[in-house]
Amino acid sequence: MRALLEERYPEPHEVRTDRALYEYVHDVQAAAMKRAAPLATVVYDNRLHVIRGALGTHTTVARVQGKKLKTKREIRVASLFKQAPAAFLRMIVVHELAHLRVREHDKDFYALCTHMEPDYHQLEYDFRLWLLACEHAPEPPAT
Ligand SMILES: [Zn+2]
Repeated sequence: MRALLEERYPEPHEVRTDRALYEYVHDVQAAAMKRAAPLATVVYDNRLHVIRGALGTHTTVARVQGKKLKTKREIRVASLFKQAPAAFLRMIVVHELAHLRVREHDKDFYALCTHMEPDYHQLEYDFRLWLLACEHAPEPPAT
C-alpha cells in the first residue's frame, strides 16, 4: 500500500528545516490568499503525532501592546511530514492556513482548502492511507 501511494506521489520535498518550512508556508499563503495575515512562527514539531490526533496546529494569540492589539499567528506541522511526499506536506499546510480563516471543519473551510489545492480531498484521503501503511510497516530507524 505504501509503495503504491509513493508511486502515485513520487515527488519528495526539500523542506527539512523550520526556516525552509516558514518560507514554504509563506509562498503557499502568498499565492492563494489576498491580504494574508503574516505568520509569526512556522515550525516542525516532533511532539505532534498521530496518536494525539494532531498533525498540525494553528494558534492565534492576541496581545495588547501599548494601545495596539497585536495578533501573533503560529503554525506547527508534525515532524513526520519531513519524510512525507511533497503533496502531503502541501495538504497539511493548506489545511492549517485555511484554519487561520475558518476555525471549524465546515463547508467554508473545505471550500478554502480546495481553492488553495484543487486535489485537497484526494490528498487528505491518500495521506490517511499512507499514514496507516507507515504505521503497519515502519521503516527501520536511520543510522
Ligand atoms: Zn483541522
